[in-house]
Amino acid sequence: MPRPRIPETSAAQKATRLAWNQGLTGKSRPPAMASVIPVCTVDGCGTPVTGTRPPARGMVRVTGSADGAAAHWYCPTRCAAIARARADLRAIPARQGGDR
Ligand SMILES: [Zn+2]
Repeated sequence: MPRPRIPETSAAQKATRLAWNQGLTGKSRPPAMASVIPVCTVDGCGTPVTGTRPPARGMVRVTGSADGAAAHWYCPTRCAAIARARADLRAIPARQGGDR
């Protein structure tokens, strides 16, 4: 017995089906790293360094990875640690020669 098919009639169902089948509608998935770490809501956290003053008291400047990424201001504890870890990960050279 085949399972009964429920007709997809509503606009929302059609939109969902289109998004799934073709991947051309809706928002794209965020990068893997972004989905693991909740976004910080502190004002000024993660903003690019433009001058010498932090956007908020006590924020620390974290330089980007070695490939010349810009430095950014982050909260002194959690966010700075995450940013440094990200920079470290990006600094790892890409593997050569595929899956070995
Ligand atoms: Zn933060």
